Amino acid sequence: MQTKIQTANIDSLEKEYDLVIVGSGATGLVSALQAKRLGLKVAVIEKMASLGGNTMRASSGMNAAETEVQLANGVIDDFTAFYQETLQGGGKLNDKELLEYFVTHAPLAIEWLAKQGIVLSDLTISGGMSQKRMHRPQSLAPIGAYLIKGLLARCVAEAIPLFTNTKLVAIKKAAEKITGITVAGTDGKEVEVGVKALLLATGGFGANANLIAQYQPQLANYKTTNHAGASGDGLLLAQKLGAQLVDMNFIQVHPTVQQDFDHTYLIGEAVRGEGAILVNKNGERFVNELATRKRVTAAITALNENGAYLIFNQTVRQRVKAIEFYDKVGLVVTGASLAELATKLALPKENLSQTLSNWNQAVATRTDCQFGRKTGLVTLNQAPYYAIHIAPGIHYTMGGLHINAKTQVLDEDGQVISGLYAAGEVAGGLHGNNRIGGNSIAETVVFGLQAGKQAAKYILGK
Ligand code: ADP
Repeated sequence: MQTKIQTANIDSLEKEYDLVIVGSGATGLVSALQAKRLGLKVAVIEKMASLGGNTMRASSGMNAAETEVQLANGVIDDFTAFYQETLQGGGKLNDKELLEYFVTHAPLAIEWLAKQGIVLSDLTISGGMSQKRMHRPQSLAPIGAYLIKGLLARCVAEAIPLFTNTKLVAIKKAAEKITGITVAGTDGKEVEVGVKALLLATGGFGANANLIAQYQPQLANYKTTNHAGASGDGLLLAQKLGAQLVDMNFIQVHPTVQQDFDHTYLIGEAVRGEGAILVNKNGERFVNELATRKRVTAAITALNENGAYLIFNQTVRQRVKAIEFYDKVGLVVTGASLAELATKLALPKENLSQTLSNWNQAVATRTDCQFGRKTGLVTLNQAPYYAIHIAPGIHYTMGGLHINAKTQVLDEDGQVISGLYAAGEVAGGLHGNNRIGGNSIAETVVFGLQAGKQAAKYILGK
């Protein structure tokens, strides 16, 4: 889905801005609003023809603990649990300074969004989390398009110029600070722009097959869920200036990607969060479906069956609106009964029936003896039943530019590169070796706000 909005082109770029923001995903748009409101002259440049980046594809939600929304839903949560579970999920390799800032500012980010008319008042849960802390729209619509639409509406209302088909190709540094950039249009024409500061909000490199192969050769043949713009430009350009890259070999493979057709479709974690189970070709469960992505991926890969099946029913479907879309594009197999579903999938009927009966028993007793699943316990005993065939796919690059909690980019010696900021997926460190579902959208808003604020502080000398 594309968001139609009036954008400018490279010819109308002015000669100078206080802050140019590169990338129109959530990070870029959030920081643009923050910086503009603090008095900066800003421009957002986007190399693609359409706005929204990979953020547009985000489906499940935005994590935060200790929010008003949680309390209104009877969820009693705390920062420590969120911090510890994210750390645990990331193999304890997360940058602790970033993580601390992230956890303690996530509720403010939820409130800030609500003030922009982007209300995330429903809750679901993602793998590796013990509490419902994944916030999403009340309509249960996928979060990405909803978020981008809301942010773009504010950007337009506040006259923030948005340039499409405008690609950052070089960054200039003079007298130890960032002074300008070179951008290119689709015809290759290049334009120089003076800046007092530059924010890289360029996303990850999940669609750059060369970089993936360089950092994780065994993933070279994996399909990606990313849009073509996720090519790692920002981090490569900053690296030329001496910026340090961290965790580049931590590449997240998402366990549930439908990839039987030309296009890949990420099947959001909310499907499992709201109760779906995974079965193998024998019709049997084989993993705690809500373990971290790393673990679920490993379990699917170990089957050696070219993927696995997500199984769910109408109860789950009603709680995840994205399933309507998955069905519309032909990804969902429907069975009027469990037996019919088994036949359509060529799974042994008795096994599938036994699996569901074991599962429903586990839900009833709140005890999953087989795999210890403790969340997303939903009874699956009413037809119709549904299935989606999935397999792991490249999804997210945890590594990237080394930043501090002020979103300043650091060089190889750990020194700040004056005037250079980075936030969102282009930055590395927050997630350790495995990102928790719902933490990337939270990262874009938390660190987008911070980047806009810190750039303003730097430029205005406050
Ligand atoms: P995040 O989730 O961190 O906000 P997204 O992937 O949603 O990241 O958005 C990043 C955006 O940056 C994408 O729309 C991508 O096309 C854009 N982008 C990447 N490289 C460049 C570049 N060199 N010049 C301009 N835009 C870029």
